[in-house]
Amino acid sequence: TTLNDKLNAVFSKLKKQVRIDDENINEALKQVRMALLEADVNFKVVKTFINNVREKALGEEVRKSLTPDQVFIKIVNDELVDILGGKDYKEAKIKLNSNPPTVIMMAGLQGSGKTTSAGKLANFFMKQSKSVLLVAGDIYRPAAIDQLETLGRQLGCDVYSDRESKDAVKIAKDALAHAKKTAKDILIIDTAGRLHIDENLMNEIVRTKEAVNPDEVLFVADAMTGQDAVNVAKSFNDMLDATGIILTKMDGDARGGAALSIKEVTGKPLKFIGTGEKLTEFEQFYPDRMASRILGMGDIVTLVERAQESIEEGDAEEMAAKMAKHGLDFEDMLKQFRMIKKMGSLDSIMRLIPGLGNMNMGEIDDRQFKKTEAIIFSMTLKERRNGKLLNANRKKRIARGSGTNVADVNRLVNQLNQMNKMMKQMKKKLGGSNKLNPAM
Ligand code: GDP
Repeated sequence: TTLNDKLNAVFSKLKKQVRIDDENINEALKQVRMALLEADVNFKVVKTFINNVREKALGEEVRKSLTPDQVFIKIVNDELVDILGGKDYKEAKIKLNSNPPTVIMMAGLQGSGKTTSAGKLANFFMKQSKSVLLVAGDIYRPAAIDQLETLGRQLGCDVYSDRESKDAVKIAKDALAHAKKTAKDILIIDTAGRLHIDENLMNEIVRTKEAVNPDEVLFVADAMTGQDAVNVAKSFNDMLDATGIILTKMDGDARGGAALSIKEVTGKPLKFIGTGEKLTEFEQFYPDRMASRILGMGDIVTLVERAQESIEEGDAEEMAAKMAKHGLDFEDMLKQFRMIKKMGSLDSIMRLIPGLGNMNMGEIDDRQFKKTEAIIFSMTLKERRNGKLLNANRKKRIARGSGTNVADVNRLVNQLNQMNKMMKQMKKKLGGSNKLNPAM
């Protein structure tokens, strides 16, 4: 079971209580504490977290409209947001230098995903129509230079390398001069990594930093290594004074411990997360979105944003707001499924959708998509927008029209209802006041 399952178990227990009191809060906190420790969250972070939640929970007048579990969820959510970086989160943004290029240096252990993240970051900026120069600063491993050049070709991004040189500091300086000459907006320097922190390597990175005076030093850490990632980040940061952290392989870290600890332990903000091997599986980090995911409430905003990269669909926040306010209809569902199909990596996407996060992924395969599409296509436009119109007769017709059976149609209707129910719960959990219109 994941952290999110465990937290939800705590919340359900509280649901049965009439009010929050010392006793049930202490019991709930004990379980939250255990869940966090089992998720490999740093113990000091857990301590601070629990103390803060306790203080707020016991101080909280149970507002009339909210049940104890709602109050508690709200407090836990707020505290998660705080610990992940806070609500007014402006640190995630890369500060662009008004005198280009903006220089970004990557640092991290070998295998942490440094080179991949350099490519992802280049892609991130190129999508914003910025020109990027990638620099192969790992002169010890020819394979690393090859890897960056391959990424460059894939992205259509220039790569600066010098296979003859044995001087990483000079390469970085030359690359900077080259970036200025060719009027690049962004310079991303991939540095050498080792398997362990090593003094020579640190020296080289520190000297490179002094030579190019970067706007950002991003430490890349592998989330799957849990508290190790946090400790290594701390040592690197003590020597290098990073400006931010990229946490990679979040797709493989079901526990979430590294994400929850790293800001608090290093004092440096998480700026990006890697969620897969593909160049597009990379997101700017937002504490509130991550908190929602940890609480199993999905992350509609990220989902829609990611979808936008494949499909132009108006403003992401606006669509998310519309979905939250009016509920989903079959048209939205069709759109979502198409986006998902285009976006690849089903697993990482499903986690973003409230209610689907805990679903068995095997259920949703390509055939299922085709079936769903066929069923929705067999509905009239009115029915797609208002599922209430689907009576037994219409369901039969639709099943026949789509080459499926009534059970399939019912399953789809239930699925939509389920999604809407989850969205409603998510809003209630967060204490939102807008009433949702159930789609049917
Ligand atoms: P480097 O030695 O630090 O430059 O690490 P690489 O960039 O070569 O990455 C090491 C391995 O991790 C490669 O197989 C990458 O494809 C993989 N990787 C990097 N980032 C992610 C991520 O966010 N998710 C997953 N699943 N794999 C990743």
